[in-house]
Amino acid sequence: MGNDENRWMKLFLDCVSELCDNNVKINLSHTDTIYILEEGVQVNGFWDDTDEKKLIFACAIGKPLTKWGPIFAHEFCHFLQWKDKEQIWYDYQSISVEESLKVYRNQPISQERLDFCLNTTREIELDCEKRAVRLFKKYKIPIDISNYIKGANAYIHFYNHIKKYRQWYPPGKMPYAKRKLREAASPRFYKDYSEIPPEMAELYKKYYPEKRNNKITV
Ligand SMILES: [Zn+2]
Repeated sequence: MGNDENRWMKLFLDCVSELCDNNVKINLSHTDTIYILEEGVQVNGFWDDTDEKKLIFACAIGKPLTKWGPIFAHEFCHFLQWKDKEQIWYDYQSISVEESLKVYRNQPISQERLDFCLNTTREIELDCEKRAVRLFKKYKIPIDISNYIKGANAYIHFYNHIKKYRQWYPPGKMPYAKRKLREAASPRFYKDYSEIPPEMAELYKKYYPEKRNNKITV
């Protein structure tokens, strides 16, 4: 095993050990994605703390390590957020399943709640990505950190775009997979995420145009 794989392996073993210590069920699937029955979506991985007695960590590992390793780390950082229970975690918990489904399915919701749901999701993902970068640095993971942060920024700012245009990305068309969006994003975390930088805003509009049936408010 090469030195690079060894670093990843140390991170995985430590993470799995911590998950086990916290009675988390671990689902490492040898597939490209994992299907979530209740939501009818394919995902790369997830962290589920809706039931404290049934905590689940899942990651699809049937692809190259360079692809699933960062996702594993990202989902593990959602577990750390649950463990640390900072204010942002409580804010996120306050969003009901029904409410988040209204957001995702573009169903009527008040502008105030829509903003709260998406701002909170944006901030929890930002906190998660910052934790992931700290993890990569701690384990000296062979990964281009600047490029990773660019992708994270393209993903985090997407929540601002959704607030106005209600257009989710089609499967496999994630914002971080769009080269031009990545290039337009900063290689560092922004101080403030309340406004999308203009160049990126134009690209989001191009790739994810406004939903024709945009039922923003009730
Ligand atoms: Zn996440």
